[in-house]
Amino acid sequence: MYGFTLPSSGPRPTLFGMSTTAKINLKVLRKKLEERRADLLKTSKSTSEDRAPVELDQAMQGRLSRMDALQQREMALAAQRRRDLELARIDSALKRFDSEVYGYCVSCDEEIAPGRLNADPSEPLCVECAASANR
Ligand SMILES: [Zn+2]
Repeated sequence: MYGFTLPSSGPRPTLFGMSTTAKINLKVLRKKLEERRADLLKTSKSTSEDRAPVELDQAMQGRLSRMDALQQREMALAAQRRRDLELARIDSALKRFDSEVYGYCVSCDEEIAPGRLNADPSEPLCVECAASANR
């Protein structure tokens, strides 16, 4: 009995190479984009029934009234529109990867701040252009 255990001398995570300042890791960002893309496609597929035209037959809708069913379909369609927009953003970010212009503002060609890309890897605009686009 030793009474206490010393920390394991095995391999320990090293902080070497990690930066406290925000930098972009292209590999990580690309992976994030691809994962998000796969996720969106999966959700689009699994919710396709929610967007199908509302059946006239009440029995098909269980306890939902036709009004409820129509409303739910509207919501499902709106959610899909948001997914499609995000997918388009992701696809164009992936294209920028392929043409090696990823990380540069699509409007002014300046570098996009790392923090913006880390927060949203599909971000196409630098902070200045995004600000003027919202004006
Ligand atoms: Zn810009």
